[in-house]
Amino acid sequence: MTDECLFCRIVSGAIPSTAVASSDLSFAFRDLNPQAPTHVLVVPRAHIATADDVRGDHAADVADLFVTAQDVARREGLMPDGYRLVFNVGEISGNTVPHLHLHVLGGRRL
Ligand code: 5GP
Ligand code: ZN
Repeated sequence: MTDECLFCRIVSGAIPSTAVASSDLSFAFRDLNPQAPTHVLVVPRAHIATADDVRGDHAADVADLFVTAQDVARREGLMPDGYRLVFNVGEISGNTVPHLHLHVLGGRRL
């Protein structure tokens, strides 16, 4: 947890969010500016900056992001239609928040 990091502050509850799912290692909440009927961000509770910073000892954190995204998809009724998972890396991708986050998008054709 870093005091300056927006998503660390959301994970800790210091900044409010609309929770969708939660686990020991991950927290999932609705995106403030949704791009689809379902647009949820799944973040590790641990601070990892970006997908380009993921290392071998993050294996459990990263696997849990996917398991929590599956939980989000079931809760939101996205299956069996399907959904999109996105990690942005770097300025050119549009990445704005330097805490790893998996976008879960669904509920419309993408
Ligand atoms: P990125 O572009 O970095 O991959 O995604 C960052 C996402 O975080 C954006 O989709 C943006 O709408 C969302 N976001 C930024 N600030 C907040 C916030 O304070 N609360 C929530 N729930 N989402 C945020
Ligand atoms: Zn953070």
